[in-house]
Amino acid sequence: VLRIRDVWKSFDGHDVLRGIDLDVAPGEVVALIGASGSGKSTLLRTVNLLEPIDDGRILLHDLDISDPRVDADAVRARIGVVFQQYNLFPHLTAQQNIALALRHVRGMRRRDADAAAVAALARVGLSDKASAHPDRLSGGQQQRVALARAVVGAPELLLLDEITSALDPELVGEVLDLVRTLADDGATIVMATHEMAFARDVADRVVFLDGGRIVEQGAPSDVLVSPREERTRAFLSRFL
Ligand code: ATP
Ligand code: MG
Repeated sequence: VLRIRDVWKSFDGHDVLRGIDLDVAPGEVVALIGASGSGKSTLLRTVNLLEPIDDGRILLHDLDISDPRVDADAVRARIGVVFQQYNLFPHLTAQQNIALALRHVRGMRRRDADAAAVAALARVGLSDKASAHPDRLSGGQQQRVALARAVVGAPELLLLDEITSALDPELVGEVLDLVRTLADDGATIVMATHEMAFARDVADRVVFLDGGRIVEQGAPSDVLVSPREERTRAFLSRFL
């Protein structure tokens, strides 16, 4: 689904991504781990075309989306994204937030979009919150609505950037359970996360970033349990 080839990105002369190579297969769940500032968010943002890259190539299926001439909106319509926070429009209800995305990004008619939004809310167990505004939802419920909106158009790829980091601990589980369900349903997911237990349970592959490079990657049972690299070991020791 995704092929990232030798991607470089710097801010103000400081290299943040230093030659990233990463392939993601259909249905694969990849967890990006690494210290704060290691480049996880920047990498996800380059894939969603929120950050232009300085060098390298990013392919979504066979389309080179790092080509500056590419239609960014058309690319983003194929990718679902959820960030840490501020995902929903505060002046719109849960249902309207989802329907708006379908109408604008997918060009759906209002009636079809509304019906799809209702179905999407049911899928995340929030049918009773369709007419609630975000400030009337818990953080966990807001993230479930954001996930519903991200997957409602059946995107080819789902990018999740620390989507539980801003949540109270008791709300993390409901959001991770939903991600697990999406993964079980075959979604292709790249997620930056500090939830090591979740990465171990759900990810097919864990990728450890350090200083803008992939230092180590592999099955969670290898990378998280018996890492080969000293830097990975040092990073993981903070979670014990
Ligand atoms: P965290 O775990 O804290 O979310 P991260 O791995 O997601 O960290 P990034 O947000 O990708 O890290 O940041 C990588 C580096 O790039 C940091 O040093 C950050 O300060 C820098 N950076 C990110 N975005 C910008 C920007 N728009 N302008 C300048 N520097 C930036
Ligand atoms: Mg980040």
